Amino acid sequence: MQIISNSLKFLKLIDEPADLLEEKMDRYRTISAIMFFLLALQGTFSWLWDYYIDAAGAQNTIGLRLCFLFFTIVSFSFKYIKNRKILELICLISGLLAQFLFVVIMNHLENGMIYILSLFIFFLLFPLFLFQGFSLSANIICTLCFAAFPQIMALMGLAPEFQHPQYIILIWPAAFAMLITHYFSAQNYRLRYESELALKAASFTDHLTGVSNRRHFLPLLKQEIIRGNRYKHPVCLLMLDIDYFKSVNDAHGHLTGDLVIREVADICRQSARQIDVVARIGGEEFAILLIEAELSGALVVAERIRHAVEKTIVKSLAGVDLSLTVSIGVAQQPIGIESEEKLIELADKALYQAKDSGRNCVVSALIESIF
Ligand code: GH3
Ligand code: MG
Ligand code: MG
Repeated sequence: MQIISNSLKFLKLIDEPADLLEEKMDRYRTISAIMFFLLALQGTFSWLWDYYIDAAGAQNTIGLRLCFLFFTIVSFSFKYIKNRKILELICLISGLLAQFLFVVIMNHLENGMIYILSLFIFFLLFPLFLFQGFSLSANIICTLCFAAFPQIMALMGLAPEFQHPQYIILIWPAAFAMLITHYFSAQNYRLRYESELALKAASFTDHLTGVSNRRHFLPLLKQEIIRGNRYKHPVCLLMLDIDYFKSVNDAHGHLTGDLVIREVADICRQSARQIDVVARIGGEEFAILLIEAELSGALVVAERIRHAVEKTIVKSLAGVDLSLTVSIGVAQQPIGIESEEKLIELADKALYQAKDSGRNCVVSALIESIF
């Protein structure tokens, strides 16, 4: 049973979410580029090793060693190719090409095949060090290909003195260990990624109501105003404040007050569209950013919220029915102004006017209409 559930977990891990894979690729892009560059140098300068094994044979491997400089191009591909799957394919082919070059080089050297055997472990480490930003499935495929390819080359007659039994004993257990390492490293990455996401979401969320908090809201408002200005889209802001809320706290306690705040947040959320942003920006104050909405549309939303709150009965902790009202100020971002402060100021002013007008009403900053 445990094995089945672990297998299922494993399958879920293979199916890594697209945003995690993008983040992983971006995080390791530079490291992979540097590692490939170093690999190009290492592969080329290892000619000295050829010379050490067989000085005479090494005269014929200079050209082949220079082929390793090709990996500098692979290194640059990390900078210019954004598509992860293409990069994964390039790296798989590069790894196989490196193995091919090694086999051909060793064929030129006396007893080269004996020396090369342990070197194949080096290729199994490729995915671990060079392909850290790749998906788990790509790393599994690469590991299996790198483990199998030398044997395939030998079977094709490209490596005449290849020692199959020694290779199998040395490489395949190492490949299996690498697969396990990849699995756990992908799992760790996923756990870290998910906890980072959860932390980020928590830091942007108001703990009492679940809507956005001030920290999340203000940059979003700023960004939306800039976008609205550029693409000539209207942006509207609603400022909402619960009327006589202090008396709810005083008469029924803070926990009932919290229930009221939550209820109003729910109504705001239900009345706004999915793309709009509802935020709690103060104790019993909410701001609602209406994206691509004209003032007339914003007034309709505000009135819908005001009416829904008026109709709602909240039960206090002691079981008493409470009715509430809210006052709402509505404003549209003035054309040509890029700062969010002006919009907040206009909506705030309208909210104060709504309070002055007796509360339980909606006031627009520009049209000055009172429902
Ligand atoms: P007005 O109609 O003018 O808005 O009157 P008000 O009583 O609603 O206004 P005021 O700003 O004086 O009251 C806000 C109160 O909200 C004061 C504060 O104790 C309370 N408050 C702030 N944050 C919370 C919270 O998280 N939970 C609860 N229960 N109360 C809170
Ligand atoms: Mg207030
Ligand atoms: Mg209030």
